[in-house]
Amino acid sequence: MATILLEVATPDKGEVYAKDINMLITRSIDGELGILPKHANLLTELIPNAMRIKEGGGETQLFISGGFMEVTPEKITILADAAEAPDDIDVERAKNAYKRAEERITTYKSAPKNHEEIDIDRAEAALARAKARLLVKGVPTG
Ligand code: ATP
Repeated sequence: MATILLEVATPDKGEVYAKDINMLITRSIDGELGILPKHANLLTELIPNAMRIKEGGGETQLFISGGFMEVTPEKITILADAAEAPDDIDVERAKNAYKRAEERITTYKSAPKNHEEIDIDRAEAALARAKARLLVKGVPTG
């Protein structure tokens, strides 16, 4: 089966993933993308998501927060703000981040004018990161 090299790195951890894979499913600002070997050149921005990696007849997941992805026919390069394999995700921390973000969003939406101290875009982004981390761990968020 044809393969394409996937490399994922973050500023903090350096390289977190480097393997020949069969397919990557990820989410960009324009929607879901499925990348197969020999894909056309592409440069795009990724949003927080539970990426699905198909390789060797199996499938694994990898959380990434936002970042950039460059694709050539032979290689996928992702530079992400943060990336974690399932075993590296702290579920309690993600649940707490989810709760915090959800509370901020609810408070803001109840009376936006009274809560101008809340950065709603930041809260929405934190919620998206927490949701994707919990999705990788199979924890339902509703
Ligand atoms: P928190 O509010 O809990 O810090 P966050 O989404 O704001 O969550 P990030 O800014 O995405 O956190 O990540 C900061 C660093 O902490 C990164 O190195 C990331 O890998 C790590 N990290 C954040 N949340 C978790 C988690 N639930 N499990 C493992 N590592 C995490």
